[in-house]
Amino acid sequence: MEARILRLNLAGQPIEWLHWKETACLYSRGLVVWTLGGEVKRARGGISRLTGRTSFMSLPAIIACAGERLAPMRLNPPLTNDALFNRDNRQCMYCGNRYSPKDLSRDHVHPSSRGGRDRWENVVAACKRCNQRKGDSLLSEINMELLALPYRPNPSEYLALINNERIRGDQMEYLRPQFARYLPASVKLSNAS
Ligand SMILES: [Zn+2]
Repeated sequence: MEARILRLNLAGQPIEWLHWKETACLYSRGLVVWTLGGEVKRARGGISRLTGRTSFMSLPAIIACAGERLAPMRLNPPLTNDALFNRDNRQCMYCGNRYSPKDLSRDHVHPSSRGGRDRWENVVAACKRCNQRKGDSLLSEINMELLALPYRPNPSEYLALINNERIRGDQMEYLRPQFARYLPASVKLSNAS
């Protein structure tokens, strides 16, 4: 899978993942101010009129940009099953077994039928069996326990969660110090090659 490029604002706050083509476009508009990390892609530029040679553009793993496209920090990351299952390390938060995403479900700790909301702090990954067993009960009513408390990922954690499969070591190194301490170690370390 082709690596994405991590875009930061000038303050160094991580904003989003970019395709290399979008990055090349920011370069050509002169908006890239500083960069970090190794080369993700060597893109072909134009042909020099002076030398007749093709120029190349080296696209790094992390770029910081100026310009009007500076998005505010995303404080409320969208809740998707993919990001949720990665947050919980693809483990059922009740029995602790690991599953492929298709065998996991989104469980509302405080059941929706009883007023529980569909938000990061109230949802966990659960296998179908545990989800079924729990049904519409509160944990206290059926003697079930959570392995970890659900939480809302901060922007750096969220970016790592949605790009779990193809994040590079240098990008993870940049994001990791900004993770909250309670993120499971396995999530922090996976794919940090
Ligand atoms: Zn389970």
